[in-house]
Amino acid sequence: MSIRYYSTNRNLINNSGIIPFTGYVTFKEALIAGQAPDEGLFVPDFIPQLSLKDIHALKGKPYREAALLVAKAFLADEFPPEVLTKVVFDAYNYPVPLEEVYPRAFVLRLDQGPTASFKDFAARMMARLMSHCRPSGERLNVLVATSGDTGSAVGDAFHNVAGIDVTILYPTAEVSLRQKKQLDTIGGNVQALSLDGKFDDCQNLVKQAFSDPLLTKFNLTSANSINFGRILPQSIYYVYAYAQLAAPGEQIVFSVPSGNFGNALGCEYARRMGVPVAKLVMPTNENDEFPKYLASGIYRKVAPSRDCISNAMNVGHPSNLARFFELYGGTVDRAGLVHRYPDIEEMRKHIFSVSIADDETRQTIKNIYELYRIVLEQHGAVGWAGLEAYRSATADKNLAVSLETAHPAKFPEEIEKLLGLTPELPASMKDIDQRQGDAVAMNDNYDNFKNYLQNNLKIKE
Ligand SMILES: *Cc1c(COP(=O)(O)O)cnc(C)c1O
Repeated sequence: MSIRYYSTNRNLINNSGIIPFTGYVTFKEALIAGQAPDEGLFVPDFIPQLSLKDIHALKGKPYREAALLVAKAFLADEFPPEVLTKVVFDAYNYPVPLEEVYPRAFVLRLDQGPTASFKDFAARMMARLMSHCRPSGERLNVLVATSGDTGSAVGDAFHNVAGIDVTILYPTAEVSLRQKKQLDTIGGNVQALSLDGKFDDCQNLVKQAFSDPLLTKFNLTSANSINFGRILPQSIYYVYAYAQLAAPGEQIVFSVPSGNFGNALGCEYARRMGVPVAKLVMPTNENDEFPKYLASGIYRKVAPSRDCISNAMNVGHPSNLARFFELYGGTVDRAGLVHRYPDIEEMRKHIFSVSIADDETRQTIKNIYELYRIVLEQHGAVGWAGLEAYRSATADKNLAVSLETAHPAKFPEEIEKLLGLTPELPASMKDIDQRQGDAVAMNDNYDNFKNYLQNNLKIKE
């Protein structure tokens, strides 16, 4: 039986201006479409099971073996095994270190990919899967609006992928110099456009392009974080970490610093696939809508979102909350309106959440360095602080892993201020300042943007 994907909005009553999409699509269709026609998120209609024997057999094996096990369980009906093998071997060619902090407590470093954030894991596998989904003889054109990290991870992931070109639109004044360098210099099939406007303006231009009939011939597609193709790869490292660390019969706790909840959702799926996860800890920064919901039973999004130092997590209504609610029997729409509440007792059984204020994040960066000589940046520090909060609230002594989601060298200012040291650039970024390449400057005007696309995008291979 093959897995099919349906919309998290399928049960909406037809009164909200939204016409629920009640059909099913394949993985490939969900990958190209991004989101469902009713603006819901695609979710699988069942979750394949991994045996504990197969999971434990991954101990000591390279990361790509774990990736292949998960990819085959989900995708074997739609991609031949040799394609899946090539996809994961190409995608995962960098280390995935597990650092012991103290006995049975680890940091999983997801910061060794080419753009030094965990988004590389999802973007690289997704890009390679997409290249197998394009109409034969035609190109796909990926359009991304970005405020920083996602754009470079997606751009780098599609770099040199056959048959796909990428156009990245970013707000000139809102990215750091290092981010700008990362975005502008990918080269080849990836072109950055630097917009005289804000991130919202970039998103609006991209949205308008998607609905423009004159651009349909370019096979425009998005690669944004609600695509199921970006969630599936994020379940793999939980399988991998459990296999490396756990003895048979053992349970594990994961702590995942959370913004849009795509990373944590990967852990939720890993548990449902059969990884013995005792608890999924989901610390947030001061955008505390989810921990408040778990405590009170009432969901209220935070609007506008609060500015915290872990800026990739400044999210007032996490887009993947729709998938969490669906998995526990509820429905919430894109605007943050709850149509049906999920089973909160069941959620509390599996998930713990806590809000970590910036002061505590900074203190955690200092403490973990002073005590253990481990350097975390602000997102990973929220993860570690969440794990400690969970352990002191529950006295749970299970094996535990906290995720580091970006490399400290991406945030040198904060680290220098707190620890008095300059984090060394990871190998993938060593030459960043010498890279050559430039963005095309663009003013905030749809006709200009459209002209650019019509004159520069390609249709045929
Ligand atoms: C995107 C991001 C996060 C948040 O991940 P979600 O899947 O959105 O919860 C955390 N840390 C870093 C460094 C990120 O780039």
